[in-house]
Amino acid sequence: MKSVKPKKFLGQHFLNDLSIAKDIVDGLSGYKGYTNVLEIGPGMGVLTDFLLQEKKYSLFVSEIDKESVQYLKIKYPELHNNIIEGDFLRLPLEKYFEGQFAIIGNFPYNISSQIFFKVLNYKEQIVEVVGMLQKEVAKRLTSGPGNKDYGILSVLLQAYYDMEYLFTVDEHVFNPPPKVKSGVIRIRRNQRTTMPCSDEDFKKIVKQSFSSRRKTLRNALKSLNLTESVLANPIMEKRAEQLSVEDFINLTCMIIKE
Ligand code: SAH
Repeated sequence: MKSVKPKKFLGQHFLNDLSIAKDIVDGLSGYKGYTNVLEIGPGMGVLTDFLLQEKKYSLFVSEIDKESVQYLKIKYPELHNNIIEGDFLRLPLEKYFEGQFAIIGNFPYNISSQIFFKVLNYKEQIVEVVGMLQKEVAKRLTSGPGNKDYGILSVLLQAYYDMEYLFTVDEHVFNPPPKVKSGVIRIRRNQRTTMPCSDEDFKKIVKQSFSSRRKTLRNALKSLNLTESVLANPIMEKRAEQLSVEDFINLTCMIIKE
């Protein structure tokens, strides 16, 4: 079969190291007993091969590239209608999955943050994600407070997921090699079911707090016209990157209830 020509605008970097592909697939732990798995961006199927060997999973793949879709249809007749052609970011996941499922992929790096924002929108269904992304982003998402890499998406994800950085992958195992190293992470849904304040408010406060990360919260949150009593709280002298997820939840509730 003629191989797919890598297209830069689709972030196509095909992994050609089978043992790394297997390690990524082994990252799926079956946590909470899901059986449905969605692979984002299978390309020529280097991960798909290993996923199909795992008989316990029922596999779906989401691929935007027509050429890859044609390739996959021929290579994997057993996938039938489970090859979903189109943009993952626009995919109505509720149409394909009723209960819990997991996501895996060597993600297109240009949309990896958007993938995780979408995961959050489906957090009641997506119990586990194993993904390869740009190392720098992988580090950022899995960092905790006090770390310069810690940012908006780290806090929003960590409110609902336990995060693990699994391993680093070198440029030279891809065709074509990307300019940066890659990192594989695993995130698993934690015990949190509800927030004492709304998700929207939490997101708004986290975003605003990091909008000028070098400033104290007092300054970063100035546009919110906070009351004197909120401003008097010692937390306002801290910077966003010093706050834990719990601190952000408390901060949000404190501001919203005033
Ligand atoms: N999994 C393969 C390919 C990784 S490259 C491997 O490891 O070799 C990233 C893949 O994501 C490409 O196949 C690309 O076509 C696909 N892709 C890019 N943008 C996408 C999108 N918005 N939705 C679904 N797939 C996408």
